[in-house]
Amino acid sequence: MGGTRVPRRNTGGTPVPRRNHGLVARATDGMKTRAAVLYGMGVARPYAESSPFVIDEISLAEPGPGEVLVEIAAAGLCHSDLSVVDGSRPRPMPMVLGHEASGIVREVGPNVSDFAPGDHVVFSWIAACGGCSFCISGRGALCERGIKANVDGTLLNGARRFTDGRGRVCSHHLGISGFSNFTIAVQESLVKIDNDLPLDVAALFGCAVVTGVGAVVNTASVKAGSSIAVFGMGGVGLSVVMGGKAAGAYPIIAVDLVDDKLALARSVGATHAINAEHTDPVKAIKELASGGAEYCFESVGSEKALIQAYDATARGGTTVTIGLPAPEKLFSISALSIVAEERTIKGSYMGSAVPRRDIPRFIEMYRAGILPVDKLQTHTLRLDEINAGFDRLADAQAVRQIIKYTT
Ligand SMILES: [Zn+2]
Ligand SMILES: [Zn+2]
Repeated sequence: MGGTRVPRRNTGGTPVPRRNHGLVARATDGMKTRAAVLYGMGVARPYAESSPFVIDEISLAEPGPGEVLVEIAAAGLCHSDLSVVDGSRPRPMPMVLGHEASGIVREVGPNVSDFAPGDHVVFSWIAACGGCSFCISGRGALCERGIKANVDGTLLNGARRFTDGRGRVCSHHLGISGFSNFTIAVQESLVKIDNDLPLDVAALFGCAVVTGVGAVVNTASVKAGSSIAVFGMGGVGLSVVMGGKAAGAYPIIAVDLVDDKLALARSVGATHAINAEHTDPVKAIKELASGGAEYCFESVGSEKALIQAYDATARGGTTVTIGLPAPEKLFSISALSIVAEERTIKGSYMGSAVPRRDIPRFIEMYRAGILPVDKLQTHTLRLDEINAGFDRLADAQAVRQIIKYTT
């Protein structure tokens, strides 16, 4: 995107003339954007052949009150997107997916006070309303209105701003829809970042890092010298490892089925690595951590991994579950063990984060060399390679694949 094509700032709610944004053609009622639209869930793999995502030019309405037009710079492919594609977390179709993204503000709607054109932003996948009882108590990740909007596929204010070529309104994914060259989000979905941070690295902070590091520092409050074990070395699990190292945990035991991911875990701070295909992780963790880890994190999204994480947790310890199993999956444990062993099980949603507090501080930790976030990025894609990218993710052949848009 050429710097001369930035629309004029709309500061006071007065409509201003709009200019074209590079490849998009501005219509009177909005603009066009190139997007990957998901029309149906649960199609057969390989996705490279069945093409659940259709790359198309679709319409994007003007930003309404409290809304911001963002040109996406980078968007990561995350397991939570895959869960919509494969149908295990159903969402309204058609939908523009993508919930781990960064970009540049190009235009603001009326009543937007926090952002101006040119601001660099990372998206938060829960738009916290700021007014419900959860938001007021600093637990915006549980915001009632934000979660309802996410389930409904709308922005926080209930709006949908995408329409495809056949006139079908497309839903938003977690208020973000990063698999589009341009998107509209409410300002509550955005976190301002420094303009000199590379935007492909910045995107990772919106899901993997805030979820994984947040689970360590917010949900579990891991103390220095505590033992931790982490199940699942995707982007979130590796971020738990990084957070554990930053918190001073020892040992930091990584568990996965793929040796390459375990090697990556060691490079970001794991002190021990267990391939659960060949070794019983529960037995190995009990040996390495004197009877069990004080904190066990599950980031696989499988109730079986959660049971293993619980069994590998020490007496008096805490099991933190981050992954998202299918809704019908149940988790069965000894009820007595919770009392007699003083066990704690904690859910961690979006790292129990306050995004505007946590994302900037985690970015500072990255800049200081404490969180080696750039190591999470294993592949770079173009938007039209998205179907093959989701095959790679489903086959556990990638950690974070980042779609980079030409800006
Ligand atoms: Zn995610
Ligand atoms: Zn709220």
